[in-house]
Amino acid sequence: MPEINLGIIGGGQLGSLLSVAAKKLNIKTTIYCNDIEAPAQNFCDEFIFGEYDNKEKILEFVKKVDVITYEFENIPYETLNEMNKLKSVLPKPSINRLIQHRLAEKDFVNKLNIRTTRYVSIEKKSEIETLKDYLPGILKTTTMGYDGKGQYPIEKIEDLNLLNIDFSKGYILEKLVKLKKEISVIITRFGNNNFTIYEPIENTHEDQILKHSKIPAEINEKILDQSKNWATLISEELKYIGTLCVEFFIDRNDNLYVNEIAPRVHNSGHLTINAYNISQFENHVRAVCSLEKVPLKKLSNAKMINLIGKQIEPFRQKLKLNKNEFFFDYLKKEIKEKRKMGHITTLI
Ligand code: ADP
Ligand code: MG
Repeated sequence: MPEINLGIIGGGQLGSLLSVAAKKLNIKTTIYCNDIEAPAQNFCDEFIFGEYDNKEKILEFVKKVDVITYEFENIPYETLNEMNKLKSVLPKPSINRLIQHRLAEKDFVNKLNIRTTRYVSIEKKSEIETLKDYLPGILKTTTMGYDGKGQYPIEKIEDLNLLNIDFSKGYILEKLVKLKKEISVIITRFGNNNFTIYEPIENTHEDQILKHSKIPAEINEKILDQSKNWATLISEELKYIGTLCVEFFIDRNDNLYVNEIAPRVHNSGHLTINAYNISQFENHVRAVCSLEKVPLKKLSNAKMINLIGKQIEPFRQKLKLNKNEFFFDYLKKEIKEKRKMGHITTLI
């Protein structure tokens, strides 16, 4: 097999875990990132530091690699599109453009007759006065949000006046769902009706940041089937190549809603590294590098805990883990509040 050099945009923990998966397949990785301290430098073969609009640096990166993928969705469309003229970018830049915009993303999902939360586009503060139907709700920036950033809970119209919201940005107001549970489904698509799908994962958030994930999810058969069918339909409709995650809400009446789509590997899928023969990361690398699909086998039930901020410290000191515990340190230089520092997966 000729040597493949996989380019990855973004050098956080997802870029690191993709690099580790690629290495196992004898694929070289070159990471491009605008953070000079990006932790993925510890795991990739080559690291290029540069801004996402630095044409020269980007060209240097593109020349080195055979195919390009990314670990996060907030990359300017223009950047991906320019790269795609020279080397194939997967998933396609147009998919990323659609999904990075909450409004376009939700419109797309609804067109497939898949339920989402009720939502409305907000451009000016004045319009909100008429939107009592969507309250209590959450106001979200249409772009650039992650881990609850750019989100404001709104109980009543007056709450809006207390917030100092910058209305030069676009917003979406979403009705709050009375949540019973959150789940996610991860799917890797290799081509037409050729995909591999993991069982739904049950997720708990703290402060809008993922804290725990586990399999099996405690859900009924109908939700299990519906969530997998919806994830499959979304990936087929997008003609997606690579790993994709669909986040779902389940309300107190057992209605399923799509919350959002991540056009990439996902934090809730970290447990696939230990619980399956092929992880979400390896499957992503296989799909974007046109390698063969290997039948998926579940090895164990599992739970994963994110180590946020200082929570990593006791694990760094711990000399011995139990046989069924797997500790991952993302090797981030600085411990910051709300920063994902590592995770621990336990096979159960
Ligand atoms: P992010 O891009 O930050 O992950 P999400 O839209 O997934 O943004 O929101 C993060 C979390 O906030 C969700 O996983 C959920 O726990 C909570 N949340 C967001 N929107 C709603 C909603 N409309 N109803 C209930 N909970 C919500
Ligand atoms: Mg989310």
